[in-house]
Amino acid sequence: MAEIIDGKALAAKVLAGTAEEVRAIVSAGGDAPGLAVILVGKDPASEVYVGRKIAQCRKAGIRSIEHRLPAETEQEVVLALIDELNADPLVHGILVQLPLPRHIDAARVLDRIDPAKDVDGFHPVNVGRLSTGTGGLVPCTPLGVMLLLDSVIDDYRGLNVVVIGKSNIVGKPVSMLLLEREATVTVTHIETRDLPDIARKADVIVAAAGAPQLVRGYWVKPGAVVIDVGITRVADHDGNTRIVGDCATHELDHAKAVTPVPGGVGPMTIACLLSNTVLAAKRAAVA
Ligand code: NAD
Repeated sequence: MAEIIDGKALAAKVLAGTAEEVRAIVSAGGDAPGLAVILVGKDPASEVYVGRKIAQCRKAGIRSIEHRLPAETEQEVVLALIDELNADPLVHGILVQLPLPRHIDAARVLDRIDPAKDVDGFHPVNVGRLSTGTGGLVPCTPLGVMLLLDSVIDDYRGLNVVVIGKSNIVGKPVSMLLLEREATVTVTHIETRDLPDIARKADVIVAAAGAPQLVRGYWVKPGAVVIDVGITRVADHDGNTRIVGDCATHELDHAKAVTPVPGGVGPMTIACLLSNTVLAAKRAAVA
């Protein structure tokens, strides 16, 4: 049987470590790290994600500063708010919950965030730092993927890794992180030919396509590690919805280890957001 990598347990460990770091900062006389969250409009899924992030901040002792703006808020108003937060020394991280309403240019908004406070790691400066291996803040889901992989892999040198999906928020950054560890990385996408054959050569598969149960048992060589980033909400015949990953996990008994969906990568993403906020606060303190 493949080992099931418990993302919930690992996320709890990361959160406990983050809370410990916050206590150390405060007991040394520093300000508690602060995370500003901007939510424009009332997208139900975004409301849920923001609610979870804020609840976890509270648990870890991170101050969360919420800015809930109406859907019709003009772009200039959002940009002015970001300027204000950039200048506020008590705000160490700024998160703009995506998606933004259509009339707002998300790239312009994200580019306005001070890269030192860009805890989502989406600013071009942080993307550049990641691709040149020169520090910066790393996007939360790829960071979570690496921590999950680190729990079962000691040495990545020469491993064949196949990443399925090339998005800016998962596929590309995770590929950069794996290259930094000296893995041989193949990045694949919707136009890739013979994907099952390519996947079958992999020691590690990171599936981030958003295609339910794309990765079948015959795609995976015995002993491979499989990280399932995909989250797709599907309706059951009884009308209930459930979350499905990118891998047919029930066909992966021959793998070395797999992450479940839910309970794998998902919980790691918020944990890494909080650890990025504390990292940003520590860097601001010595800057
Ligand atoms: P995206 O839509 O931006 O990118 C998907 C990528 O997968 C594209 O590069 C596309 O070419 C590729 N792809 C799509 N279908 C494919 C197929 N059949 N074969 C091969 N490649 C295919 O998506 P994203 O934002 O990177 O997210 C990917 C998945 O990860 C989604 O299910 C998303 O919900 C999930 N996700 C989860 C977390 C988390 O915290 N667990 C965070 C971010 C994204």
